[in-house]
Amino acid sequence: MPTETDIAIIGAGAAGIAAAARLAELGRSCLVLEAGTRSGGRAFTDTASLGSPFDHGASWVHVAEHNPLTPIARRLGFTLHEGERRRRDILLIGDRPAMPEEKAAHDAACDAWEAAAEARAAEGGPDIPIAEAVPRGGYWDATVSHWLGTTVCGVEPGRNSLRDYIDTGLDGENPQVREGFGTLVARLAEGLPIHLLAPIHHLRADRDVTLEGPRGTIRARGCIVTLSTGVLASGALRFSPGLPPEVEAAIHGLPMALLSKIGLRGGAGLGLGPFARLGRRVEGEGDRPMSWVMSPFGRDHAIGFLGGDAAWFLAREGPAAAEACARAELARYFGPAEVARAFSGRAVATDWGENPLFLGAYTYARPGAAGARAALAEARPADGRIRFAGEACHTRYAGTVGGAWASGMAAAEALSATLPG
Ligand SMILES: Cc1cc2nc3c(=O)[nH]c(=O)nc-3n(C[C@H](O)[C@H](O)[C@H](O)COP(=O)(O)OP(=O)(O)OC[C@H]3O[C@@H](n4cnc5c(N)ncnc54)[C@H](O)[C@@H]3O)c2cc1C
Repeated sequence: MPTETDIAIIGAGAAGIAAAARLAELGRSCLVLEAGTRSGGRAFTDTASLGSPFDHGASWVHVAEHNPLTPIARRLGFTLHEGERRRRDILLIGDRPAMPEEKAAHDAACDAWEAAAEARAAEGGPDIPIAEAVPRGGYWDATVSHWLGTTVCGVEPGRNSLRDYIDTGLDGENPQVREGFGTLVARLAEGLPIHLLAPIHHLRADRDVTLEGPRGTIRARGCIVTLSTGVLASGALRFSPGLPPEVEAAIHGLPMALLSKIGLRGGAGLGLGPFARLGRRVEGEGDRPMSWVMSPFGRDHAIGFLGGDAAWFLAREGPAAAEACARAELARYFGPAEVARAFSGRAVATDWGENPLFLGAYTYARPGAAGARAALAEARPADGRIRFAGEACHTRYAGTVGGAWASGMAAAEALSATLPG
């Protein structure tokens, strides 16, 4: 591994890959140090476990019309599939499917939830948790909060900043990548100076910027740090001198949410169309339903989604518990015998929460910390020789691959511009 470079990049997720690609265009030498065995970070397509591509992390190209990866994907010949917009194909109330008018009431409650959040944020005033802005007590309100809040955001609405939720809201086109979003991001890493299995544990800034890890020491003139805020907060990367208090505050203002997926092989014979969406009503305190996408792209697997505290709990319990929970959830729709028959194949549970290289799925902002994304993106420790990039740093498209990509590009341009030729 080389020991000197212009700009070192820590982490080969979307942000690190984008930064390296941009630096190459700018004629700067760079090195990307990645702790894991692969590039792509939280964009990872697993083609082995379920017999067809399964994205453990990102799968939707959010706001595709403004996403920097949309034209890149098309140019490289990847297939973007925009499915029909619908909330639930099967919506259970207890053990029976909802009637059409009940589904309509559910959909109206979803619209009302989003409208209430937007209206309250538009009033201005101090930031509050989402939970204080949205309808409560109605027949569908707990179900909608569980889905749009806890599942999609990966954190309970009582702990999530309303302002950040609105500022980073994802609307517009929302296709998926047939070959896998992770496959696309891994392709973009090809040919870049990425070193795998090269964790960095210490970043020292004195005359030079020095990166230290078990593979050796690298001297650079500047460094872009793209680790998740969960990893940064864990202390796995030590900074000398320590980070300024406002940067520490920004990191702690942006904790990691968790969305877990459980993929079960099978289900194609159930007669549901591709991408069928299943969900059920929250039945009382403590009930945490999974949401399902069945047979994506007509493939013979189903994906269960669980977010927030219940996902953290299952992550700690391990993959066998996650699979048992997923099978029990599916049994509510199809019965245990049919689930055993239709899903007799393998299961795979994602491990973003427990994996020390990520420690969560994506960031949320604590109430009152909506400005933390800009603070982290604009932080210039070590006289501007260290920059942060990654999904947490994007003030509009946080929590997405597109946001991470744009943030990596911006950090590369900014750092390159401040270092003498
Ligand atoms: C379950 C799930 C679903 C998601 N769904 C979507 C979606 O549908 N659409 C979407 O756009 N986004 C989605 N996301 C979010 C998206 O995946 C992330 O926002 C994006 O991939 C983050 O990229 P990044 O470069 O900021 O960070 P990362 O991908 O986390 O990259 C950081 C890299 O640093 C490495 N690293 C960690 N520690 C060290 C160290 N000490 N030294 C060196 N390297 C280290 C890590 O291994 C990692 O590769 C999802 C994420 C998850 C987990």
